[in-house]
Amino acid sequence: MALQRVYNLLDNALHTQDFFLNDHVTTAKKIITKYKLKMPFEYKILFCKNCKRFIVPGRDSRFRIGKSRIKALRITCKICGHTYRKIIKTKHDA
Ligand SMILES: [Zn+2]
Repeated sequence: MALQRVYNLLDNALHTQDFFLNDHVTTAKKIITKYKLKMPFEYKILFCKNCKRFIVPGRDSRFRIGKSRIKALRITCKICGHTYRKIIKTKHDA
């Protein structure tokens, strides 16, 4: 299953050194484009909205969960300094 390969590749990317990281990410993106897959939420947040780079949580980005009623994730990209918010949905809509 193509999507499973994407998961594996991006998981690998999270636990690998820079040298291989981009290979994994590039391959994963290729599969997504080829099979017209939707990037899963968990992995979407690994890409900076501004510079489009793959950002490793805790290393290339900072995550903060908002305490307000609407649960949102604040992600700061350490590469370009861009901060953006992602609303965390409680329900999974297909
Ligand atoms: Zn960025």
